Amino acid sequence: MATATLNPADVERVVRDVLNRHLAARSSGSPAKSSSGDIPVLRSAPAPSTSMLSPTVSAGKRNPLVVNISARHVHLTQEHVEILFGNGATLTPEKDLYQDGYFAAKETVAVVGPRRRMLPNVRVLGPCREDSQVELAFTDGISLGIDLPVRVSGNVKGTPGCVLMGPHGVVELKHGVIRAMRHVHMGPDDLTYYGVANGDYVHLRIESPGCTTVLEDLAVRAAKGIKLEVHLDTDEGNACNLENASKVELVKPEPCQCKH
Ligand SMILES: [Zn+2]
Repeated sequence: MATATLNPADVERVVRDVLNRHLAARSSGSPAKSSSGDIPVLRSAPAPSTSMLSPTVSAGKRNPLVVNISARHVHLTQEHVEILFGNGATLTPEKDLYQDGYFAAKETVAVVGPRRRMLPNVRVLGPCREDSQVELAFTDGISLGIDLPVRVSGNVKGTPGCVLMGPHGVVELKHGVIRAMRHVHMGPDDLTYYGVANGDYVHLRIESPGCTTVLEDLAVRAAKGIKLEVHLDTDEGNACNLENASKVELVKPEPCQCKH
């Protein structure tokens, strides 16, 4: 991943330009519900109930199903943290995420798209990773002028890039801007309970007032020590009124009966 190639004069011009545009755009309001400046990156789903689990599955330990919205965010390498926030800088945990060891950092960056459009205050999630990556909703992509590919996190080959701006410096990502594929994190017990394997797909049914929805093809991402948790993005969560949902359940797709 290449770092900044802009010279200081370019950076200053870009920063001034995008800030001016942002200030001008601010008064016209945002077209979609978003949480760009919110500190909590994940929004809790309704409390699980015993009726949430698919009746088609029964073996294994049943864990509560938590559905969270993952708002737009950035993962950074340690090298990029230091370019953006200063030599020797490290991420400062601000809020623990549902999965143990993961956190929303105090740090935010601005994400600048191709026509110098900018999303300010995009939260950085920790800990640092091997590759920097930007996860946006389609609505964000429209705002930025980036055609987002849907990818499982970490699969960034051939994806669009962007410029990240921090208080100390600028990083140009050659690739790594994605719309994360909807997915469910599972531990070994969950794989047994639902009868699925890492890389399989399941459906998520959400019952909510006027917006009951089935989201198909959630990628199963399994690892030891991981809690059962669905990650949707803000577009998906808002579309199905997740905040007011009365029931959520995972449904294992039935194999086609036609034998073709
Ligand atoms: Zn996730």
